[in-house]
Amino acid sequence: MSQNYTIALLPGDGIGPEVIKEAVKVLGSLERGLELKLTLNEVPVGGAAYEVDRHPLPPETLKTAQEADAVLLGAVGGPKWEKIDFSLRPERALLGLRSNLKLYANLRPAKIFPALVDASSLKRELVDGLDIMVIRELTGGIYFGEPRGVELLADGTRRGFNTLVYTEEEIKRIARVAFDVARKRNKKVMSVDKANVLEVTGLWREVVSEVHEEYKDVVLEHMYVDNCAMQLVRAPKQFDVIVTTNMFGDILSDEASMLTGSIGMLPSASIGGNTAMYEPIHGSAPDIAGMGLANPLATILSVGMMFKYSFGLEEVNAKIESAVEAVLDQGVRTRDIMSNKMTEVSTQEMGDKVVAELEK
Ligand code: NAD
Repeated sequence: MSQNYTIALLPGDGIGPEVIKEAVKVLGSLERGLELKLTLNEVPVGGAAYEVDRHPLPPETLKTAQEADAVLLGAVGGPKWEKIDFSLRPERALLGLRSNLKLYANLRPAKIFPALVDASSLKRELVDGLDIMVIRELTGGIYFGEPRGVELLADGTRRGFNTLVYTEEEIKRIARVAFDVARKRNKKVMSVDKANVLEVTGLWREVVSEVHEEYKDVVLEHMYVDNCAMQLVRAPKQFDVIVTTNMFGDILSDEASMLTGSIGMLPSASIGGNTAMYEPIHGSAPDIAGMGLANPLATILSVGMMFKYSFGLEEVNAKIESAVEAVLDQGVRTRDIMSNKMTEVSTQEMGDKVVAELEK
């Protein structure tokens, strides 16, 4: 019996539509090759939606996302919308999607493909074989805590403030995601906090340790965030799964991803609610939009994560990763990952090469 999945496609702005087009080719190939029926519902988001509806996340887009089995997003934003009111900027659509879909866990793998080891800014021996998963809490912490703002003091100077807050429940659920993911990997979790200074992350450490009682087959360790930032560039292969708060995760996941060389290679998943969202970690790259220079592999690998985490088809993710690896091994490169003696291809040609590998 064939399985039916509905995917909401949100191409967005800049290179978003270009990379999504290649991901759609991959989806088409998978549908032909496997017993699958995929329904793709494309809706505008970000600046593209603002142009039509004067809102970056129109109700129809949100509804299509909520009703889908999974969401695939390209990227949002661009210079054209930098001057409009903050609440209507394209990037606000991301926050709207995350909160409405209740996506409290962001999974960002930082995995290096053997053919790209020399593209890393670190020495070959430090990154060869690197495979880390950073799990960032996405809907709580200092980015959402109240009170927040900037106030005028009696002496005429200003004071800015934000609040770092986590409930026990918020910590428990992200810890469970981390332990569950670790069980399918190398069974090691590093929980990152600043428990020596911040009471709330002292609670984080305590609650993660309590949840660990249910996952004794997984090794749990704790690390302060400043040390973790250092260890990621000193000896990154010591990590398997890193779990941390929203702001620490924002910073550490960018640091970890750059160990692998290119922003155009890295996928992500945001999970927690009924519908998960998958997207490349890069933005809309206005500097190269429309030029056929965008690397579509991060988006194609995001499709792989969708099959693994939303549809439970881990073998499809493995198939996509192998196809990408094979294409890279052939020396095929988009400009961002180009090096000597390799063949430069366009966004579209890279998509075609991956499809050809999938169909071999
Ligand atoms: P960016 O990720 O768009 O680009 C950074 C650099 O990486 C640029 O030089 C770009 O050309 C290059 N790059 C990015 N993706 C690439 C790809 N797939 N292939 C080849 N090269 C690639 O970040 P930015 O320039 O800081 O932001 C541009 C816009 O994107 C801004 O409006 C920003 O707000 C938005 N943004 C959106 C998201 C998102 O939609 N999730 C994330 C980050 C930034």
